[in-house]
Amino acid sequence: MTTDSRNCLFCRIGRGEIPADFSHQDDLVLAFRDINPKAPTHLLIIPRKHIDSAADLAETDAQMLGRMFAVAAKLARETGIAERGFRLVSNSGTAAGQSVDHLHFHLLGGRSMSWPPG
Ligand code: AMP
Repeated sequence: MTTDSRNCLFCRIGRGEIPADFSHQDDLVLAFRDINPKAPTHLLIIPRKHIDSAADLAETDAQMLGRMFAVAAKLARETGIAERGFRLVSNSGTAAGQSVDHLHFHLLGGRSMSWPPG
């Protein structure tokens, strides 16, 4: 599962070639609304750097990952889902349902969720 960053959907969003409804942008990380939301609040948090999935992470990605978690927490507070509870998920690989081969966290909230996931 190696996607060329020129053709990667989320790299193209990061370069401004495809529009998105951004909630956050900085030098390392972007966040935008999921186009097909699975909860009242459903944001995607992605690194600008192309990484296929969580299976490809290394310790050298620590700063970027720290920023992704900090942005997720900030957006959870700002959207009002932090108090009641939210879910932060990263699907990795086909069995987990990953459909875009660029690392992303789903930030989901605003409704009750069951466990384990399907
Ligand atoms: P996953 O299936 O875990 O790889 O998540 C990919 C997510 O990207 C899905 O929830 C899609 O709805 C979402 N998505 C696909 N295309 C776009 C797009 N152009 N803008 C925003 N979200 C998108």
